Amino acid sequence: MIKIKTPEELGRMRVSAGMAATVRDSVAAEIKPGVTTQELDEYARDLIRELGGRSAFFGYRGFPGQICISVNEEVVHGIGGARRIQVGDIVSADFGVYYDGFIGDTATTVMVGVSDPEVIRLVSVTEKALEAAISKAVAGQRLSDISHAVEQVVTDAGLAVVRDFVGHGIGREMHEDPQIPNFGPPGRGPRLKPGMTLALEPMVNMGRAEVEVLSDGWTVVTRDRKPSAHFEHTIAVQEGQAEVLSVANNVEKRKHSAGRNTEKCDK
Ligand code: MG
Repeated sequence: MIKIKTPEELGRMRVSAGMAATVRDSVAAEIKPGVTTQELDEYARDLIRELGGRSAFFGYRGFPGQICISVNEEVVHGIGGARRIQVGDIVSADFGVYYDGFIGDTATTVMVGVSDPEVIRLVSVTEKALEAAISKAVAGQRLSDISHAVEQVVTDAGLAVVRDFVGHGIGREMHEDPQIPNFGPPGRGPRLKPGMTLALEPMVNMGRAEVEVLSDGWTVVTRDRKPSAHFEHTIAVQEGQAEVLSVANNVEKRKHSAGRNTEKCDK
């Protein structure tokens, strides 16, 4: 059953998703050559704590990280560790933040001094696929119109949609109904209604669509080890145009920059 959020619940989701977006943008700015993925995870942990939220990923089915950090051939669910970011890497970072009873979920892929035009195109097409998904997340559309829009952008570009992982409803739980595949024919599934809240998240591979899970039990990689990109927003279905909930809240941003400066002085 797809839960319709009340205006009051949507207001709370704006805060949790805005918080996730604040963390996303702040961590993205820290993704530089030389930083380890563990350091990025710790940075996110501290910031989420400072904002008063908590990671929705940590401990989820035993996930050990605060955020998911997936580099190059890693698709999703990468765990912060000793891997050091290098020039030419793409780094997908995924954030789930729980606050006041609701979860916000958002992801971005950061290019670190990337010069390979094919990698740049992969990231740009993935971001466009998310925009296409959002454009269909409107009251009156059918659920699979979202799926189809993503697939069309990706296949038109000669790239491959990951089929093993899907977008999802979100709210009090990280994964609510419905599942939202990033492929399929249009015009199927439930009709979208105002107040549905969805995490839309295309995962796109430069090579083939197949993925596998590493021996850590979490990290998903492309089977051909070619790069993969991932973008995600939490949105609310509305009439006419979806509302993107995972946008950084200005108040939170100000709070954060103050905190960061203090932290830097301490060190
Ligand atoms: Mg998600």
